[in-house]
Amino acid sequence: MVYSTTEEDMGDAVKQFMLPASEGIFRTGLYQYKTTLFKTKSVDAGSTMPINEDELRILVDNFDRIYKNDPELANMLGIKELHDLLNSLSQITDKDRKQDIIGEIFQVNRMTKVEVHFANDLCQFWCSHCRTLFFEEKAIIDRKYNIYRCPKCNRTLQVTPVWVLKEKTRKSPTTPLTVWISGAKNEELWAAWKGHKAPICPICHNGKLDIYYSRSPARLMESSRIECDTCHHQFSLFSQNYSLINATENLTQAITISTYNRSMLYMDAFDLRKVLEAPCFNPSLLDEFIYSPNALVKEIVLGYTFGANITETIKAKRYGRDLKTSALYLRLKPAYYYEALKFLREVYENHPEYNKKYKGIDANNEDLHKLVLHSIAHGIKSMLPATSGLALDSFAYIYDLTNDSVLVYEQAPGGFGACAELSKMEEIKKESIAVEFFTKLRDNVTECTCDDRCKYCIAMKGCQEMNEALSRFALGPLLKIDPHDVSWGF
Ligand SMILES: [Zn+2]
Ligand SMILES: [Zn+2]
Ligand SMILES: [Zn+2]
Ligand SMILES: [Zn+2]
Repeated sequence: MVYSTTEEDMGDAVKQFMLPASEGIFRTGLYQYKTTLFKTKSVDAGSTMPINEDELRILVDNFDRIYKNDPELANMLGIKELHDLLNSLSQITDKDRKQDIIGEIFQVNRMTKVEVHFANDLCQFWCSHCRTLFFEEKAIIDRKYNIYRCPKCNRTLQVTPVWVLKEKTRKSPTTPLTVWISGAKNEELWAAWKGHKAPICPICHNGKLDIYYSRSPARLMESSRIECDTCHHQFSLFSQNYSLINATENLTQAITISTYNRSMLYMDAFDLRKVLEAPCFNPSLLDEFIYSPNALVKEIVLGYTFGANITETIKAKRYGRDLKTSALYLRLKPAYYYEALKFLREVYENHPEYNKKYKGIDANNEDLHKLVLHSIAHGIKSMLPATSGLALDSFAYIYDLTNDSVLVYEQAPGGFGACAELSKMEEIKKESIAVEFFTKLRDNVTECTCDDRCKYCIAMKGCQEMNEALSRFALGPLLKIDPHDVSWGF
């Protein structure tokens, strides 16, 4: 089956159709279409996506802050080489020369055409009506609808569940269904799987174990049975190291890193500071705060994980997409960190644990900068669904420690218009929508009762940093909150 990407679904495509960077690895990105699970077979590389020195530095910083505690991953995905590359670039003055070197060492391509194939190394087909298992070559391909049909009853075929590893060992992260049948020899089951044959029944030594059903999809492992087609003995499925789950495309997850172009941001930008002289916002602590209709974000897939719970990480062939979208861009004055630290010390004055933490650092502390930028990014992102009616995952952010800045952007080409709202006036009250936006955020942050972050204020699902390095109080100076006005739960 061939999947052609368009600009619209390019974002999904780069995170879905992953191929390994090195030969000999057969696990590739998974893609679900209707009831079938496909694996990526080939990708036609499109044009090269140029990345300049500034974008590369933001990308590397971005990786480092997200995966700070995982040097093994940085090593595997080639981040060390990128640090070396940035060092060598700093000694070159010629711009074109720099661009050539980046292109040689860190080439990224856009995607055009992708070919997928049934995920035959993971699953088999089975007919829920006939309860029979089929290898790929027995299934009937319906090319018109891109589905597979049962050779006996012509109904649409499902894919079998897969086994996933439970604990970290050197074993494979997944295995196919029919290799863990209680009462049958594991080597024989593997041999049958590899030869694309149904295993022979260990009871009657005659029939084939090709009948499968599950009494309760919610309790897959306990309720699944394999049956002999001749003596009809039923076998349960069991493995010590693996558990059984439904096979989905979520068994592969892209490791994506984003960067953005700083010079593009200012084209037709709207200065939000001029509409935000309000009791809910302090623009004087910001060097910049703009709405940009021309943000250029670049998302690059560096690798992917394979499996569930326990996963294997694989370095990917580099593909990326550039996303022209709408964004909010905010850059702090260095003074912001002093104000934030002062605020944190004040609110945590009587806090048993944080009191010491914030007394022991100064305003140059990198963790403090991270806490501040990350919290502001979450704060802004958390309010965008409320004012736009869009889902939280319509938005993403990048924060940048070198430029003390936060970019919150819309995850669709051209954007959805949610950020643009902040540059407009509310018609009836004649009040800036940005003022309304930050008043609500201010209320949320002030009235929450958590110690630092929770799902009612600024913590959120899908945070790449697992909601670490966050504090609602880091937004205090930005939102003109009085440290004495905040609510507490403890
Ligand atoms: Zn059937
Ligand atoms: Zn039998
Ligand atoms: Zn909270
Ligand atoms: Zn986050």
